[in-house]
Amino acid sequence: MQIEPLKNWGVAEDKPWVISGPCSAETEEQLTETALALVEKGVKTIRAGVWKPRTRPGTFEGIGKDALGWINNIRTQVPEDVKFAVEVATAQHVEQALEAKIDVLWVGARSSVNPFTMQDIADALRGVDVPVLVKNPINPDLALWIGAMERIAGAGITKIGAIHRGFSSHKKTRFRNIPSWHLALELKREYPELPMICDPSHIAGDSALIAELSQKAMDLDFDGLMIESHRDPANAWSDAKQQVTPDVLSEIVEGLSIPTASS
Ligand code: PEP
Ligand code: MN
Repeated sequence: MQIEPLKNWGVAEDKPWVISGPCSAETEEQLTETALALVEKGVKTIRAGVWKPRTRPGTFEGIGKDALGWINNIRTQVPEDVKFAVEVATAQHVEQALEAKIDVLWVGARSSVNPFTMQDIADALRGVDVPVLVKNPINPDLALWIGAMERIAGAGITKIGAIHRGFSSHKKTRFRNIPSWHLALELKREYPELPMICDPSHIAGDSALIAELSQKAMDLDFDGLMIESHRDPANAWSDAKQQVTPDVLSEIVEGLSIPTASS
């Protein structure tokens, strides 16, 4: 895999690279209000789920393409260096996201587990220069995670990052998805240039654990954090328990102690 270090991506000057925003884009007002509050707090990359891979049918499955238009309306209200990230799970999502000039794409855990899905996504990315973040698959299989990224790399994408969002388990633990820090570190050892992002929101499933998990990721020298935030977490249409307000997000980030290279 040929991987460009994060400093060449043009998305993040600071460490950690903070990516934050709602689990789902719900309404234009909700997305705009949340994004503007985050930008006010210094967040430079806004996430929003537009197509939602829900575990069971009958729940909110995302607004779809229309939300890409909302993102482009928000662009006119924020500085140019603010970037937007969305999840893609099909070739059609990739085409629509690229057409809307979305800056960063990510692939979710229910997609990275499937080589056919990854190949379809990779094929739709051929000849494009866009950063792609790949979440770990739902099961703790490092080869499958690497394979998913290799397919993206095989399409010529060099700005590839990994997101650790924990692994499904039937065991009841304090986490929604159990982290495997050693597996993430093994990946980091194998690919030292690969930016490693932690998603404490989907690991935790609980907003009360986000600060602790974010600090753990910093202590392990992760490059960034993807944290779900919402103007009104309690009334979110998806993942209500794990989202934080933009104010709390900012407190969490301000409270991090970032180890320096020499410490
Ligand atoms: C998400 O980021 O909202 C999401 C669906 O994540 P995951 O793929 O980690 O479940
Ligand atoms: Mn979510």
